[in-house]
Amino acid sequence: MDLNTVVDVRDARRPEPWRPGDAWLGGGTYLFSEPQPHIKRLVDLSRMGWEPLRTHADGSVEVAATCTIAQLSRFGRTLAATAAPLVEQCCRAFLASFKIWNMATVGGNLCNGLPAGPMISLTAALDGVCLLQAQDGSRRRVKVADFVTGAGRKDLAPGELLRSVTIPGRSLECRTAFRQASLYGLGRSGALVIGTLDPVDGSLAVTITAATTRPFRLWFALPPGRGELRAAIESAVGDSDWFDDIHGLPRWRRHMALHFAEQVRQELTRDGVR
Ligand SMILES: Cc1cc2nc3c(=O)[nH]c(=O)nc-3n(C[C@H](O)[C@H](O)[C@H](O)COP(=O)(O)OP(=O)(O)OC[C@H]3O[C@@H](n4cnc5c(N)ncnc54)[C@H](O)[C@@H]3O)c2cc1C
Repeated sequence: MDLNTVVDVRDARRPEPWRPGDAWLGGGTYLFSEPQPHIKRLVDLSRMGWEPLRTHADGSVEVAATCTIAQLSRFGRTLAATAAPLVEQCCRAFLASFKIWNMATVGGNLCNGLPAGPMISLTAALDGVCLLQAQDGSRRRVKVADFVTGAGRKDLAPGELLRSVTIPGRSLECRTAFRQASLYGLGRSGALVIGTLDPVDGSLAVTITAATTRPFRLWFALPPGRGELRAAIESAVGDSDWFDDIHGLPRWRRHMALHFAEQVRQELTRDGVR
């Protein structure tokens, strides 16, 4: 749709002082999908020329904020890592048309901060770390699980830019299990749970997204038993943390998240019983 309060679109390669009413433009799939009366100027990231995906010597993968869902999906299908299937599973949890797939960026998905943000699910579960750049050029790093602080809320100062997300090489060697539910076929995720089992030390992480207003990543030095896992989720996720919107009632989301968490625990542990 037309954003009729926007009076200027600027190329982010030529920095200018940040002004109230400025907004970074990723793929624009959210920004142009509903009125944005507070936005006066868009700062377009699409010509930054950032390499979409870079594999570092330590095995970590750095995903540029401007990497599209389509580019990430292609990369995931060629990635020789145990966790590679999770990339495609999360891209497919983005229940959108090919137009959205080819325009929407990983950075835009994280910065939108929707509970059903599948790139949030993927990068939080793999213990990803955001690289953020302030207007004065200073940089800081924050884990994805801490970056998204609520539905549509993130740890981002005015004018601060998400530059990339780095997924540690060790996370990519984890065995993974994925469960997702929507209220209707091809609907937005109402609950999405990912388990990762670290082959080095045998630790298990269970990450809950979509059911909750923000990601919850629970880490266990050793895989917990059924009761321990349930108790950990119930103590970490408060009543008001279960998300409530048209895509699912909080009680249903809580039920599905607990159910899926137990399923991924069973899938990733030898006998599923401790
Ligand atoms: C049909 C349809 C289906 C959709 N389905 C889903 C879905 O299943 N799950 C979901 O999460 N979303 C969904 N969306 C919403 C949206 O498409 C996604 O969240 C998408 O990932 C946003 O990415 P983008 O690059 O287009 O972001 P944009 O629209 O460009 O930006 C989104 C927000 O992030 C900010 N931003 C963008 N990049 C950066 C950056 N690098 N640093 C700082 N801030 C930045 C923008 O200023 C804006 O506030 C859907 C939208 C449509 C139209």
